[in-house]
Amino acid sequence: MRFYFLLVFAFLLLQLTAQRKEVDSTLTVSFEEYDPQSSLVVPENHLTAASIPFVDVHSHHWRMGTQDLDKLIREMDSLNMKVVVNLSGRGGQALKEMMDNINESGYQDRIVCFTNINIRSIDDPDYLEATLDQLRFDKRIGARGLKIYKSQGMTNTDKAGNRIKINDPRLSPIFDLAGEFDWPVLIHYADPKQFWEPHDENNERWLELKLRPNRKRENEYASWETIAGEAHDLFKSHPNTTFIAAHMGWYANDLVKLGEFLDDNPNVNVEIGAVIAELGRQPRAANRFFEKYQDRVLFGKDSYRPEEYATYFRVLETADEYFPYYKRYHAFWRMYGLDLPKPILEKLYYKNALRVVKGLDKDLFE
Ligand SMILES: [Zn+2]
Repeated sequence: MRFYFLLVFAFLLLQLTAQRKEVDSTLTVSFEEYDPQSSLVVPENHLTAASIPFVDVHSHHWRMGTQDLDKLIREMDSLNMKVVVNLSGRGGQALKEMMDNINESGYQDRIVCFTNINIRSIDDPDYLEATLDQLRFDKRIGARGLKIYKSQGMTNTDKAGNRIKINDPRLSPIFDLAGEFDWPVLIHYADPKQFWEPHDENNERWLELKLRPNRKRENEYASWETIAGEAHDLFKSHPNTTFIAAHMGWYANDLVKLGEFLDDNPNVNVEIGAVIAELGRQPRAANRFFEKYQDRVLFGKDSYRPEEYATYFRVLETADEYFPYYKRYHAFWRMYGLDLPKPILEKLYYKNALRVVKGLDKDLFE
């Protein structure tokens, strides 16, 4: 009997130590907890402002009709951002309120609005005329481009429940009109390819998919290749319209392919919003890319958080080594500065934007 109790006791003790071992960080640590402090000592350049004035062509300010624009301009000044492009202009009356606020505050030269369209109502009998009318109105009140959201061409459906492809022929006159207006069309299509891949230990965006499970995409719906292919077809079928593929068209992790894509589509430019960590992990390849495609890349950031621009400036302008990105779920790796030559930086920061977005005041950049 006593022997039996001893046995049970020994067994429990073993279990307890086994459990302890699981939380003993000298033996194991989870991927999410692992946060080694780098001991590397190298020069660090924390840039709070760009060395050259710049245009951010990819920004979102949903409440621009009522927000305090003086505050926004003060923040822009502190970053050396001369012009911000608010892609969330919405169109119609909402855009009118935004433009009124911009004009009354006297910031016509600093704040540009792109408009948006609604494609979900594509089945309405007067859809096309109403949409074209809205765009004409938006142009009259000051819109300078059109932004297409990723939901348009990925999740928006018509009345029959079919996904509305962004190259749907019924939408074609809209992109022709943008071309006539000399409006660039900034389009976010698809998403990082890893969102379509199995959410397992081999997925480079494993952490992002864990923290943001709604970003997982299923192939059954439409594959990455299908959605991107439809956007590429749109570019090809509207050669007189200038497009800006957001987030480098999700080719920032394959710059050779991105180069081929740009060679193949002379009416398309790209912007670097949310893919700076891709560039920062391949400084030599990125430099070769910027050397060759210096006329085709625009500066964009996407979500507007003033404190995050510093990381963009550091990647683009410095030769710093082995420094972190600010969102671990985008990049668990460290980055290296590209140290871009000044003539290339000038094109990326504003000269290409002056060419693509019509009516910008070039005197702001002298
Ligand atoms: Zn965006």
